[in-house]
Amino acid sequence: MTKAPVVIFGGTFDPIHIGHLRTAIELGDWLQVPEVRLVPSGDPVHRVGTQASAQQRLAMVSLATEYDDCLVADDIEVNSESASYTVVTLEKIRQKVGPSRPVVLVMGMDAFMHLTSWHRWQELFGLAHLLVVARPGYSPEMNSELKEEVGPRVTEFKDELKLTPSGSVVFHQLTPLGVSATQIRSLIVKGQNPRFLLPESVWEFIKLEKLYGFKEG
Ligand code: ATP
Repeated sequence: MTKAPVVIFGGTFDPIHIGHLRTAIELGDWLQVPEVRLVPSGDPVHRVGTQASAQQRLAMVSLATEYDDCLVADDIEVNSESASYTVVTLEKIRQKVGPSRPVVLVMGMDAFMHLTSWHRWQELFGLAHLLVVARPGYSPEMNSELKEEVGPRVTEFKDELKLTPSGSVVFHQLTPLGVSATQIRSLIVKGQNPRFLLPESVWEFIKLEKLYGFKEG
């Protein structure tokens, strides 16, 4: 029997919230894989600095993943010496799992549309499949460079993600929960209550570490 694909879902997770967690669980169910690996970035390349440190964001992801066996916190980027380039992370994963195991990289439509600005982006397809999560009714507007590379790789056959090690692109529609890390940080700094937008243990951690401008009321 072939081994289940390694499914990785990256983000800054500053902090992790129910939108990330529901997406991971729904994708795990849809793909019928035993686990989805949540990979907090170390040193973000594509955006300005995070508020919580890499170790704090990893700690929050670890707390959140305790609620479900399908969710796994992966420290591959946080505990890496090098900058968090996705292609480098995938090379490390590939080295670990060997050439034949499928690897699936999950990304949102926004990230996908900017893919051509990523470091060594064309090499991603030799390392992993891409699973692009899109809002229902939203279709990608790809620039010509992206279209040329991705067009022949697109498939509606999700089992392709299990049958070959890398190279396919699947779009999957998911209705995201209306929650973002920005919204949560903004509530906290204003002294408002973010409870139920994120796991209780993560909220407790934020209070303990006084993250995002939290002040004892
Ligand atoms: P910020 O508000 O700081 O930009 P964020 O909430 O978008 O953060 P990220 O860590 O940047 O969180 O996101 C990681 C991944 O999770 C991205 O692919 C993003 O598209 C996806 N994501 C973010 N929020 C949601 C949500 N509510 N539902 C589903 N996916 C989400």
